Amino acid sequence: MSKIAYLNSKFVKFRDAKVHIEDRGLQFSDSVYEVVAVFNKVLIDFDSHLKRLQFSLNELNINYKINAKKLKNIFEQIILKNNFKSGIIYLQITRGVQSREHAYKEKNIPNVIIYSINKKFNIPGKLFIGKTAITTQDLRWKRRDIKTVSLLANVIAKQIAKKKGAYEAILIDKGKVTEGASTNVWIVKNNTLMTHPSNYDILKGITRDSLKKLIKKDRLKFKENIFTKKQLYSADEVFVTGATSFVTPIIKIDNYKINKGKIGPITLKLSEYYFRNICCD
Ligand code: PLP
Repeated sequence: MSKIAYLNSKFVKFRDAKVHIEDRGLQFSDSVYEVVAVFNKVLIDFDSHLKRLQFSLNELNINYKINAKKLKNIFEQIILKNNFKSGIIYLQITRGVQSREHAYKEKNIPNVIIYSINKKFNIPGKLFIGKTAITTQDLRWKRRDIKTVSLLANVIAKQIAKKKGAYEAILIDKGKVTEGASTNVWIVKNNTLMTHPSNYDILKGITRDSLKKLIKKDRLKFKENIFTKKQLYSADEVFVTGATSFVTPIIKIDNYKINKGKIGPITLKLSEYYFRNICCD
């Protein structure tokens, strides 16, 4: 069975899904995206991803009106047509094609790309593993809250992590932790959970928001606070959240072991809560 993608109102063979060389996403990263997890054919947090997509489109004034029902149907068709079980569905909306110049035409017709990528998740159970991370300088622009494909700084950070055999690159801005290259970062200290406040400096993760609701239900102590690299190293537990990571424990950062290199009890509990919430509710 050949893989099927969606491109501008049509389902097409993945290998035939192509955009023009003057697409603004290609030339200027003038484009937004979303990554929605699919677990056992179920879309995770779909509505919240659409809300954030709307926010990104609005912030960049991209001429695309979301039809939630239609988009959901396309996502479901992608699952059906590809017999897709678990992984991610990637959606990208570019500002469309235009003769190359920095300023854009307001009426450009966006290119809409949707396709699936198989992926195994790190889920609590026998095979659940704690991962390692490195820290590196946060080189990104000043509107990290918009989910654009301007990801070069994230790419560089991830490559540094990959070279060192680490799962995630934790980004440091003037001694403070912002987030991971593709995740939000959390620490636990003295039974209190902490993550960066949602402002221009980080992407407001959908997984982060879902977990916040679960934490509230369980009445765990939680603060949205900025924390330093030093606090990160000396945390009792560290974990990251994201559509492709769910809740993933971090047990070593640079040369520092966290919780003696073992998954901590609060991280384990939250990863189980989160997983139960998406898989079984
Ligand atoms: N932070 C960054 C920079 C990301 O790229 C991502 C996901 O791609 C996240 C955080 C986590 O966001 P979400 O939970 O919506 O996947």
